Parts: sequence; structure tokens; C-alpha cells
Amino acid sequence: MPQMLYRPTFMQVNLQAIQSNIQQMQQMLPVNTELIAVVKANAYGHGDIEVAKAALQVGVTILAVATPEEAIRLREAGVSADILVIGASPASFVPVASEQKITLTAYSLEWLQSINQFDQPLKIHIKIDSGMGRIGFVDEDELKHALAFIKTKEWLEVTGVFTHFATADEALNKHYEEQVENFQCMLSLFHEKPRIVHTSNSAAALQYPEQNLDAIRFGISMYGVAPSPWLSDYLPFPLEKALSLHTEVVHVKKVKKGTSIGYGAVYTAEEDEWIATLPIGYADGLLRKLHKQTVLVKGKRVPIVGKICMDQCMIRLEEPVPIGEKVVLIGKQEAEEITVEEWAKTLETIPYEICCMFSNRIPRLYSE
Ligand SMILES: *Cc1c(COP(=O)(O)O)cnc(C)c1O
Repeated sequence: MPQMLYRPTFMQVNLQAIQSNIQQMQQMLPVNTELIAVVKANAYGHGDIEVAKAALQVGVTILAVATPEEAIRLREAGVSADILVIGASPASFVPVASEQKITLTAYSLEWLQSINQFDQPLKIHIKIDSGMGRIGFVDEDELKHALAFIKTKEWLEVTGVFTHFATADEALNKHYEEQVENFQCMLSLFHEKPRIVHTSNSAAALQYPEQNLDAIRFGISMYGVAPSPWLSDYLPFPLEKALSLHTEVVHVKKVKKGTSIGYGAVYTAEEDEWIATLPIGYADGLLRKLHKQTVLVKGKRVPIVGKICMDQCMIRLEEPVPIGEKVVLIGKQEAEEITVEEWAKTLETIPYEICCMFSNRIPRLYSE
């Protein structure tokens, strides 16, 4: 998809990698188990509409988003597949959800009572809080009341029931087992089993195939990222990374020993040095705390020097390069690779947060 870029900074998103990760996962699933593609938060920064369409092309039938706005965006882009909003939706969204056939999450009796006045067809999945402590039914009596309430509303259709694991990305643990048990216990209160019972995020889907039930919710690993460093050693198939981050050198100069670089003049050249300027900064997601991160030029790691500015940063080169020299901040260049996981380590966070922190100012380019 050619796109005119004046600033040569962009994210490359490999949709084939996403499709391949989905297909590899699908091959592990029983034939009747559906794969719900989780495209919340702009598809973890990769671009919600493009990722949703790519996922639908390889047999995904349901998309999950976190908010009403995210669901509306997909509908406005012409996506007609089932969409499940997995977060809380206010009652004011219910008429729109009904009209646009968006499935909502019912997570408490209070929420159900808040939509009492409504009378148009609405699909819901019931969320059980089996040990995440976020949203969902915890109490058996409350769930029984809710199921009785739903029975009196013929316009309400329960098409699914689900829960979410807090510790599926670690080695088998007691908390996970308790969640499985709690969920089964809540499920036994249903007189009729809803069509789609689902529990697994990427971590559980990859690690506990027996838990894959009627559907899985596939998020981070669809984008080629392991849910945790621990799980990356136990993946049933290799994941293909979808995201890479690129820019080009826009300025190169030789500075004399003792010259300082950037705000605060905190970096000083220890000898005569080649310094290049890159058109990317913290407003793009290259956070100031990444100042110790390296970037790739000519297949080699080179350091960022000085403080990262809002829109630019400086790197130190061994030798001069021409203006327009390609720079990889995340991704492969020749034999070297910098991963989202490496940035996560540098920033003492998780890869999920890295994917989500690239601003709208970074164009996403898609290779198909
Ligand atoms: C975000 C989310 C997912 C996806 O989790 P991954 O770890 O990215 O696979 C699944 N279910 C719920 C309820 C979520 O909020």
C-alpha cells in the first residue's frame, strides 16, 4: 500500500504474519472451536481495521474490542462480522449496539437492571469474575438472579459466557486452577449452556489446549508476541512478529571532542564523533526512558545519545552515512534484531504496553 511520506518514520505491519499466527493457532484448535481476534486498542497499535479485515480473511468469525467506540469504528469501516465488546458498556450504548448488532458484556445484575427499559434485540455474553477481580459475576446468587431476570426479557439473547485468567502466562499455578474451578461452578448454574463458552486469552490458548472450549480470545500472540518471557520458551509453534519501526537519518555531522548534544547538555562527545539526527521522538512513542536503547544502522547496533526530544533524537555512528540511510528501531536489519520484548525490558514493562504506546503520528504501512 504505497503512501506518500514526507517524514520517513513509520511502522511496518506485516498482515501476513498476523494471518499466519492465526492459522497456526487455528490448527491447534478442535474444528468447532472459534478464534476470536482481539483488536482492541487499535489492534494493539497495529491498526484495527486492517488487522480485523486480515483476520476475517483467514476464517476468524468474531472480533473483540474493549470499548463501544472501537466497535463503532469497525462497523463504520464496513466490518459486518460479529463484534463483542469485552469491557463495560453504558446503558446509553445499548440502542446503538442493538441496531448495529454489536454483542455486549453483561457483568453484573446492576448492569442488566440498568438496561431494563430497553426492548429491542440485544446479544450479550455473560462475564464471570473467576479470580481476575475486574468485571464480572463473582457471587452465585447474583448470577442466579441475573439469569432469572434475563429469562423475563425475550429481547435479550445470551450467546456466550466467559471469564478471564490472571495468571495463565506463568507456569501452571494454583490461582489458574482455582479460576478454572470457579468458572465451572458458575457455569453449572446455567439451565441452558450458551452457544459460546470461552475462557482463554493467548497465554491459556497456547499453554492449556484442554481449556480452549468453544472459542479462544487471541490477542497479543496474534501479533507475534509471546504473552510473557516465561511462556516464550514453551510456545507450541514459532510466532511471527508483525510490527517493525523504521526511520531514516535526516542529518549527519562530525562534532569535535567536548561538544554536547541535546537538552540539558548531558551528553558530551568524548572524542571527535559522527552524530546523526533521526526524525522520531517521545511524541511518537520513543519514550525518553529509552535513551539507553540502541538502534540498527547498516545491520549494527548504535547508541542513542543525549536526551530524546519530542520529535527527534540523536545517535552516534562509527562512520558517516548518507542522508536517507535506513534506521531500524524495532525489527530486523541484516543479522541483527531489536524486538518489542527488548524495549519492554529496557522500560521495565510488558510487550503489550510497548505495542500500545506508538502514537497516531506514526503512519502504519501494511505489507500484504
Ligand atoms: C485483552 C483481553 C484478551 C486478549 O488477551 P491476550 O493476552 O492479548 O491474548 C482476552 N480477553 C480479555 C477479556 C481481554 O481483556
